[in-house]
Amino acid sequence: MKYSTIKLAAVQPSASAAVSESAAALKAAGHDVIDLGLGEPDFDTPLHIKLAAHQAALAGRTKYPPTDGTQDLKAAIIAKLARDNGLTYAANEIIVANGAKQVIFDAFMASVEPGDQVLLLAPYFGSYKDIVMLLGGVPVAIPCPVENGFRLSPAALDAAITPATRWLLINSPSNPAGAVYDEAEFRALGEVLLRHPHVLIMSDEIYEHILFDGRTFASFSAACPQLRDRILVVNGVSKAYAMTGWRIGYGAGPKPLIAGMTKVQSQISSGACSIAQAAAAAALDGPQGHVALFRAAFERRRDLIVSRIAGIPGLSLNTPGGAFYALIGCASFIGAKKPDGSVIADDIQFTQYLLLAAKVAAVPGSAYGLSSYFRISTATADHVLAKAMDRIATCVAHLEMPRKDS
Ligand code: PMP
Repeated sequence: MKYSTIKLAAVQPSASAAVSESAAALKAAGHDVIDLGLGEPDFDTPLHIKLAAHQAALAGRTKYPPTDGTQDLKAAIIAKLARDNGLTYAANEIIVANGAKQVIFDAFMASVEPGDQVLLLAPYFGSYKDIVMLLGGVPVAIPCPVENGFRLSPAALDAAITPATRWLLINSPSNPAGAVYDEAEFRALGEVLLRHPHVLIMSDEIYEHILFDGRTFASFSAACPQLRDRILVVNGVSKAYAMTGWRIGYGAGPKPLIAGMTKVQSQISSGACSIAQAAAAAALDGPQGHVALFRAAFERRRDLIVSRIAGIPGLSLNTPGGAFYALIGCASFIGAKKPDGSVIADDIQFTQYLLLAAKVAAVPGSAYGLSSYFRISTATADHVLAKAMDRIATCVAHLEMPRKDS
């Protein structure tokens, strides 16, 4: 009996979730594993947000919500977009979904025809590729070199656009590299896009509040107002408010696209949990002090990782400008010999070695379209990160580096 489609066979389950499952299995077998796989803040959801959910439940807000989001949450999103990003959106240009991930899914489901190309900036969040493939689209990766801070150049964008390009997906600050664009860089990309009016732009702004070194956030839509009717802003409360489990994300974009996404969502989930929507409204409308505290902790941990990686021969790290990941280069160890005599062939085997020898779970860079790297999440307590770095340093010191043929 065949249980799945050919399309599904090509799709990978989430790589970070798979790594965390392997880590959990080792933990269950009694090993002391440090899981740096999954990208979620280690902080708890602030109390005033939880209380809002409690109140909503007690007040009987327990019926089906509108498919595209409750009035209260939409009002909070409209106010947030105006306050933080200088963007003006009407209620019928907003959709609320079960996490930013479902916003992305709704958008591609509503707009991607089989064979349509979606431009992804490698290294990219792996789900982008798999969602596009699930929907019959063609993900096209544009390599964004480390020398350019893993950012896209206008020339590379221009060269990648074809008549089949449907979407460009940008993500700043980015997962996994922490690449951050400023307004001028977005404007330069916007000029290229103005010459290609058939391309839609999805701007994933989920890490908006996690920016380092005094950077201010540039929203693609605010930088390129002439492109407004081709842009879908994607955001959510998961990362900024430590609310990954509440599953609330939102999109803001042209009315016909939002209408299509609402139609999709009406047949997938009938909308997002009414209680979680009340919590998300309280997050966006309420005091923002926690956001700054979380950001400061992520920056301190970023600094810790940058200095520790600099002290481990063979590993390299381009300083992340935001988000809570470190994408660490391990090319020097590809071809290296492990203590058991076997050879590390690629970054997947490198992360397997880290898991078994150092008991540290990390995700191979190939899951993000960039091999010879691995990603760790820095959304973990400082002392745990320091311990993980000690373990990684010890276990890579046991590798015999490959001979360099002259
Ligand atoms: N976009 C990016 C770049 C992400 O890293 C993630 C989560 N890892 C998401 C979207 C999905 O976020 P949510 O929890 O809101 O679905």
